[in-house]
Amino acid sequence: MLYQPSMLAELIFQINKIINDNADEITQLDQVIGDGDHLVNLQRGLKALDDNADEWSKLEWDVIFQKIGMSLLSTMGGASGSLFGTLFLNIAKGLKDIKSIDVNDFSHAFNLGVESVKNRGKSDIGEKTMLDVLIPVALCLKQGVENKTKLVELFTNIDHAAIEGMESTKDMLATKGRSSFLKEKSLGHIDAGARTSQLIICCIVAYGLKQK
Ligand code: ADP
Ligand code: MG
Repeated sequence: MLYQPSMLAELIFQINKIINDNADEITQLDQVIGDGDHLVNLQRGLKALDDNADEWSKLEWDVIFQKIGMSLLSTMGGASGSLFGTLFLNIAKGLKDIKSIDVNDFSHAFNLGVESVKNRGKSDIGEKTMLDVLIPVALCLKQGVENKTKLVELFTNIDHAAIEGMESTKDMLATKGRSSFLKEKSLGHIDAGARTSQLIICCIVAYGLKQK
């Protein structure tokens, strides 16, 4: 496994940094088609993770993902808080008691997590949400495992899938979440949750590639 629990604090630091570096853009995105709180919700969640990262880094990944999920649920708020929380809790379930996690295990767990977000949000691809990033990334992982894609290539594919998914939300009509109240006015704007999901995924991928 490329990612070790001992890397948790550094990973969370990097994610915080990428979100803070793009703070203005994220707020603007949620202001035009939401209520403008997505950045603050996410920063609150990330701060709680940062506060606990050193302690959690002594645990196994399944327990770490569970702690992250519980923490996001209780600190973040907003629709995104319960959805990100659900994602991590179900990834944790998928990884339960697996000692040495490989890409196949993670793909299985991530796909389980994304399914649970679909159920929780009663939404699917094409509805202008974070799922327009999460679903293509889950599929990319699954196909990568099936095709035995080399790790560097798989990481590059994931990076591209996340960016393409994020950009695809621009021309979508929102049918779920607050932005759906705007109907046609939501056209032409990227979804805030899709943007933050993409930034986080690309950050994790970039960190992984540096470990190679
Ligand atoms: P809120 O919408 O409650 O203000 P946030 O602003 O923190 O919460 O998060 C908004 C993001 O949550 C949206 O940009 C979208 O990506 C995601 N979202 C909202 N509702 C749903 C849903 N039903 N399914 C999937 N994602 C959703
Ligand atoms: Mg909001």
